[in-house]
Amino acid sequence: MSARPLLEQLIDALRCLPGVGPKSAQRMALHLLERDRERGQHLAATLQRAVEEIGRCGQCRDLTEHELCAICANPARDRELLCVVESPVDVLALEQATTYRGTYFVLLGHLSPLDGIGPAELGLDELAERLASHPPAEMIIATNATVEGEATAYYLQRMAEQHGIQVSVLAHGVPLGGELEYTDQSTLAHAFERRQAMAGKPTGP
Ligand code: ZN
Repeated sequence: MSARPLLEQLIDALRCLPGVGPKSAQRMALHLLERDRERGQHLAATLQRAVEEIGRCGQCRDLTEHELCAICANPARDRELLCVVESPVDVLALEQATTYRGTYFVLLGHLSPLDGIGPAELGLDELAERLASHPPAEMIIATNATVEGEATAYYLQRMAEQHGIQVSVLAHGVPLGGELEYTDQSTLAHAFERRQAMAGKPTGP
């Protein structure tokens, strides 16, 4: 039994990337083989290192190859502000769009019981420990404006309440069903800066 041609295997492998269909995968594979083998080598080596070495930050769960990510390791970041997001791309989006200088907690997902994703899978035990040991003055919930994101936000809000921590959510502007990653920078900056304290929580100084 002969193995499938390597070229076919490469095209198939490239299709694991989001948004890459059979045609684009074919174009990418041929481009690397016909015109850019050197960069193909570089891509393969970097990818190999990245999947082997990148893990999660011990404090915020963001992706990093170090024990702590650059934000958690930075003493200038304000530990009194903690922003909870669903994904590492949300950290990037907020860092680019806003002047936020606090810290983050990255859930790497949202509550989705049907898919078997509960509080444990999102590291909410770690978050609870952090809220107990180093309670921030304000917890900003910046989950996506989707049904799952809202359900997750509700859960987070109850957690913060149990620890007596002030909670705020992004102001309107992030469209309903919208993901932060795809919200334009000025809308995101506006929604972040005008975030609202939740009613019934201790507010202000
Ligand atoms: Zn971190």
